[in-house]
Amino acid sequence: MKIDRLETWVLEAEGQAIEFGAGNYSTFKAMVVAVTTDDGITGWGECIARRAPKVLDTVVRELLWPVVKGRDPHDVEGLWDEMFTLLRPWGHYRGFVQEGMSGIDQALWDILAQAQGIPLYKALGGAGRASVPVYGSKVYTADPAAMATQAKDKVDGGHAAIKIQLGRSAARDGYRGDIAVTKAIREAVGPNVDIGADVNSAYDAATAIKVCHELAQYDLAFIEEPVYPDDIDGYELIRRSQPIPVAAGESEFGIFGFRELLKRRAIDIVQPDVARIGGFTAAKRLGALVHAHNVKYAPHTGFSCGLAQLASLHLAAAVPNLWRLEEMFIMNPLAEIFTEPLPKSKDGMLALPTNPGMGLTVDRKKLEKYRVS
Ligand SMILES: [Mg+2]
Repeated sequence: MKIDRLETWVLEAEGQAIEFGAGNYSTFKAMVVAVTTDDGITGWGECIARRAPKVLDTVVRELLWPVVKGRDPHDVEGLWDEMFTLLRPWGHYRGFVQEGMSGIDQALWDILAQAQGIPLYKALGGAGRASVPVYGSKVYTADPAAMATQAKDKVDGGHAAIKIQLGRSAARDGYRGDIAVTKAIREAVGPNVDIGADVNSAYDAATAIKVCHELAQYDLAFIEEPVYPDDIDGYELIRRSQPIPVAAGESEFGIFGFRELLKRRAIDIVQPDVARIGGFTAAKRLGALVHAHNVKYAPHTGFSCGLAQLASLHLAAAVPNLWRLEEMFIMNPLAEIFTEPLPKSKDGMLALPTNPGMGLTVDRKKLEKYRVS
C-alpha cells in the first residue's frame, strides 16, 4: 500500500457569536486533509486553524506532503518523526508545522483502520471503551443569570459535567464577575455536577491564585488555562498556591511542552487537541506521559470542524487515564460535515461509531459549500 494522492480544503463559516476569555469569535475556520492510497482508501484529518487557515494549506502541500507521498502508511510513526525532523533543526518545531502534521497523521491512521476493517480507536490499540464520558462545553460569557439557566438546561438534558467560561466577565467587571458567575451556576445545577472553568489565559498568576481561593468553595473540577500557555512558571505557582486542579494543553504542540508541565507537576488534567498536538501519533505518545505521571487525560475539541471532533472521540476511547472528552454544544456549522449527524451524548456518555476508520462519511458537497476559494 502506498500513499498516492492529497486533497485539501480551507473552510470558513459564520456560526454562533461567542464571547470568551481570549475575545470574540464567530467565523469558524478549519483546514481539512484527505489522503488516498494507491489501492483507493481515503483517510481524513483536520489541522486546527483559528486564523489564517491558508497558511496550513501551504505547509501541508509544500512542506509535509513530499515527505509522505509514495510511502507506506503502515510506517505512520516513522513518517511522523520524519516530518518533525524536517524543520526541527531550523527551529520550526511548534506552530503551523505540527498543526499540519496533525491533519496528515490523522488521515494515515484512518487509512490503517479502514485497511484492517476496524474502528479507528481499535487501530490505535484501543482501551476497550465502546463509549466515553463527556463534559458539555461551553457556557459562554453572558450575564450570570443567563449562564446559570443554560448550565441548568444542559444538566437537565443529561450532562453530568459541564464547562463554563471565566475571564471575560473579569474583563467586564473585574474578577468578582467571575466569582458571581460561578456562584450562580453552582446554585443552579446543584452539588452533584462536575463544573470546570476555562479562563483562556485571561488572568495573570497572582489574579488566578486570588480568584481560585474564592472559587474553591464552589467545588470546581478544574481551572483551565488560567494564564498564557507559555507561562509555565505561572502554572507551577498557581498549582502550588491554591486547591483547584489545573487543566491545560489545547495550546501545546508535540509532547515536549507537556513534558515540562508534567515534570513540574504544574497540571492535573491534560487537554491536547488532536488537530494541533501532531495527530494521533503525538496524542498516543502523550498518553504514556500522562500514565507515568498519574494525571488525567481529557481531549480538547473547541471550535474545530467535525473531523477533529470525531477524531477526538476515537482518541478518548484509546488513551489511558481518561477523565472526559469535551463535547461542544455550540452552533458551529463546520461540525456537521458528514452525510450523517455527528454522534451526540446520551446521559453523559458518547458511543463510538462502529464502521471502519473514523466511522462517518465526509459529505464532499458540504466541504465545497464552506470552501474558501
Ligand atoms: Mg479552553
